[in-house]
Amino acid sequence: MPPEPTTAPAKPLSAPQRALQKLGLTRDIDLALHLPLRYEDETRLTPLLSAHEGDTVHLEGIVRESRIELRPRRQLIVKLALPDDDGEPGLQGLILRFVNFYPSHQKTLAVGARVRVRGELRHGFFGREIVHPSFRAVAPGEPMAQALTPVYPTSAQLPQAYLRKAVAAGLARARLDEILPPQVLPRGVPTLREALQLLHHPTPDTGLQALQEREHPAWLRIKFEELLAQQLSQLQSQRERARLRAPALKAAPGGLVERLLAVLPFQLTGAQRRVAEEIAADLVRPQPMHRLLQGDVGSGKTVVAALAAAVAMDAGWQCALMAPTEILAEQHFRKLVQWLQPLGIETAWLTGSRKGKARAEMIDKVASGAAKLVVGTHAVIQDDVVFARLGLAVIDEQHRFGVAQRLELRRKLALEAGRGSSQPLEPHLLMMSATPIPRTLAMTYFADLDVSTLDELPPGRTPIVTRVFSADRRDPVIERVRDEVGKGSQVYWVVPLIEESEALDLRNATETHEQLSAALPGIGVGLLHGRMKPADKAAVMAEFTANRLQVLVATTVIEVGVDVPNASVMVIEHAERFGLAQLHQLRGRVGRGAVASVCVLLYTGPLSQTGRERLRAMAETTDGFEIARRDLEIRGPGEFMGARQSGDALLRFADLAQDGDLLAQAREVAPWLLDEQPAIAQAQIRRWLGGRMEFLKA
Ligand code: ADP
Ligand code: MG
Repeated sequence: MPPEPTTAPAKPLSAPQRALQKLGLTRDIDLALHLPLRYEDETRLTPLLSAHEGDTVHLEGIVRESRIELRPRRQLIVKLALPDDDGEPGLQGLILRFVNFYPSHQKTLAVGARVRVRGELRHGFFGREIVHPSFRAVAPGEPMAQALTPVYPTSAQLPQAYLRKAVAAGLARARLDEILPPQVLPRGVPTLREALQLLHHPTPDTGLQALQEREHPAWLRIKFEELLAQQLSQLQSQRERARLRAPALKAAPGGLVERLLAVLPFQLTGAQRRVAEEIAADLVRPQPMHRLLQGDVGSGKTVVAALAAAVAMDAGWQCALMAPTEILAEQHFRKLVQWLQPLGIETAWLTGSRKGKARAEMIDKVASGAAKLVVGTHAVIQDDVVFARLGLAVIDEQHRFGVAQRLELRRKLALEAGRGSSQPLEPHLLMMSATPIPRTLAMTYFADLDVSTLDELPPGRTPIVTRVFSADRRDPVIERVRDEVGKGSQVYWVVPLIEESEALDLRNATETHEQLSAALPGIGVGLLHGRMKPADKAAVMAEFTANRLQVLVATTVIEVGVDVPNASVMVIEHAERFGLAQLHQLRGRVGRGAVASVCVLLYTGPLSQTGRERLRAMAETTDGFEIARRDLEIRGPGEFMGARQSGDALLRFADLAQDGDLLAQAREVAPWLLDEQPAIAQAQIRRWLGGRMEFLKA
């Protein structure tokens, strides 16, 4: 079956077109599968007499008056006369109020215009009113909508009306032929075309409840299709991988692994020992390992990676360790050099900022095999870096790598396969992440990925106390910082933006740095932000690590992996602007030593509902799994789209908690389809996963 046609135009894209692309809505089928979040009923008007305050109403009227008032603030006030029961404009009135408006508002809402408006009914100063209603001009007697109006998840750059048209067009054009044999489908579900038609444009008599709760047969059809595509693709990658060959890596008795354990300044935790064994058991097998090591911030993943590397190097192979940022790569490099150099292991260091002769030297060492361990950023997988014998690749904070980089990595690993041996051998792959995925999800979702979990923190950690304060309390917080520094602690002070942005009124890092320097005389205050040159960043980090700077004002560049055990205070300004996972990562920079640590979250109100829930979650728990669970719970549709973009949300429609039966059925039929109806299986995968397919494997 040929691939689904795309709608990619030749002209430069308009802003909404670019926004569509950003949401992954490029093919007709993608648009057809972009389902509404909810519906608005514009099939009838609301009888005003029976409407209560707080109801969402849909009304039609004639504009009687339109004026701009300047007090108490600039606003557009429009008075609407609503028709009496006989349909003639009568005495009933309604105020429309706009605090943000454009000339186009005034034009459409000019005196005499007939409009339909929709919004939440309130009782304001002038009587019944709607603030910021949606509205459109209509002709007298214009018919009502025949179906409920879909409201789609969208982004700021993509107006709902534009998206609605694009989805309707995509739905009309998409080839939605029934490719699945009827016997694999759940009982009583409609065809794919019927299901999509109904979900996009339900008639007013469709049970809204069943639609909202996603229990309508149309929903079951969609969810089953999605689960099936996902199971097929996982099963397929699993089978592909089972055919690949990898070097069998075995640690020699008395070899590097044992010597490394002997020089470590600590004992492994039980969890580290268990996970290291799981990895070692994979490495001795002649199939490439494909394992995700997840463990909360500070759980000690680095040493587990070092042990895996030691196994590979002991067996005579090279190991590459990649981190998403230069700061993080440098930290790994230092730690690994400190542990491994005394054992006679030469380590190469490759990042974007290492150029010219230094880079050429490193590349030679990698190519000759003199460097057994190669640490760096994605510079490690560039084409001119050729490994003598790559046996293991370790990717730290793998979810931080972009899709393109993950694909590049896979390509590179495939290229490296077989270098230095007669038969193509793929390197083993170990991915590490501090963003835990709930176990059931991981097992179902990554049929092609083995998961190890570090569920224990190294001993001697004191829990981090988290306090949430309004930004008015900033001065006492600065006092506290002074006290803590006096007691020998070091402090991170995190700000959300680098450059002044008037609109958002955020303190910029430079200004905060100046303020804190002035407020804390005699204390070394450093500044670290993303716009600095890598060498300057490294220099500042080194000063902070050596405790020559006591306070570090930083943007989120420190979010990932920075490890300075003496830092025990973290202040985050504008905490309401950060996502929950990000706050958790940031907080993980403290609580690494033996002293009690504090995390202060400063917020500027008013807080949104989700903002409040995020801060509460932070104050209530430090457990990364619990945070991940709450994050899923709190995330609104907007963020959901963001997550889908990054591939985190692997299921758009089905919900494992609710759809266990559908999942069971999909798992049952997937192997049969793949074996007996391979063309159908491929078409199903392509239809649902399209361009995301490669990425899901990455
Ligand atoms: P993460 O999992 O966040 O990458 P790290 O590997 O950076 O964690 O480890 C956090 C800190 O804990 C480091 O300073 C590391 O040296 C230390 N550490 C790791 N394992 C142990 C252990 N078993 N006992 C004591 N300290 C440990
Ligand atoms: Mg780490």
